[in-house]
Amino acid sequence: MWNECIKKCITVLDGGFSTELERNGFSFLHDPLWSATVLHTNPEAIKDVHKSYLERGADIITTASYQASIGGFQKHLGLNLDESKRLIKLSVELAENAKQDHLKESISECKEILIAGSVGPYGAALADGSEYSGKYCDKVSHEELIKWHLPRIQCLLDAGADLLAFETMPAVKEAEALMKLLHDFPHAKAWLSFSSQSMHYTCNGEDISSAALNCIKRAPSGQLVAVGVNCCPAEFAGSLLKDIASVSDGFPLIVYPNSGEKWDHQQGWTGEKVKPNHTYLDTWVNASAKIIGGCCRTTPEDIFHIHQFACEKNKENVVA
Ligand SMILES: [Zn+2]
Repeated sequence: MWNECIKKCITVLDGGFSTELERNGFSFLHDPLWSATVLHTNPEAIKDVHKSYLERGADIITTASYQASIGGFQKHLGLNLDESKRLIKLSVELAENAKQDHLKESISECKEILIAGSVGPYGAALADGSEYSGKYCDKVSHEELIKWHLPRIQCLLDAGADLLAFETMPAVKEAEALMKLLHDFPHAKAWLSFSSQSMHYTCNGEDISSAALNCIKRAPSGQLVAVGVNCCPAEFAGSLLKDIASVSDGFPLIVYPNSGEKWDHQQGWTGEKVKPNHTYLDTWVNASAKIIGGCCRTTPEDIFHIHQFACEKNKENVVA
């Protein structure tokens, strides 16, 4: 049902996950597992973040598995293989629990809520900032990328994720590996979102329209639900989407930029929010965006603005 709806309606994605944990008192600037460490130390806190986004109108919540990997959990938490897999599956269960709590508490709400299993890039697990350059892709083979991504994807799907969020991908090579991997899971749906620090290119400097079109062409039929950009400054998102829309023939696009602050590997986020993300919503929708949310440093309040906007737009679509 949602698959059909996505072509007509705007679907609201949640916002920054780590940001919300930090606002709730957690700190993991120099933790190699980043917010995934909280899966191990305080799973209830993760559920609370999901609930806060559901309460503010998110239709899709994303699991806390962006920086989770079997190797990372083994190395940094001393877990064995089964325990590491268990922790990845827990990220889906926590989102499901939050969804069930939310549905119980909001009796009037009968909308469909989806759980997206977050699949961050290989570079995120290196914890050296290279996820924002994609430079590691020169040193890692296509086969190694597939081998590294496979077990987390398997765990997320086994645990019941409704779809996969291939997100913050800095380079075409890794996106191609994921599109190939998607063929091995014929019942899975996914979106693929590139990171960018400019108006026209991926973080690795590839043309965004070619990168996106490449995914659409390589994806197994009917399994890729959207393609787009995330963790870019909001001011660049409109241009990036327009580039993609110019070649993608109405294919649904996804956008969830960060707040526009700058990431420094040593200091964390610096600088200031330039302009609220919701002021760009019309531009993004005019450029074919169908799934809209927020990335780093965005909050449930930002998502509430998107939710209000989506309600109005979706009403117009029903009337039309
Ligand atoms: Zn981000």
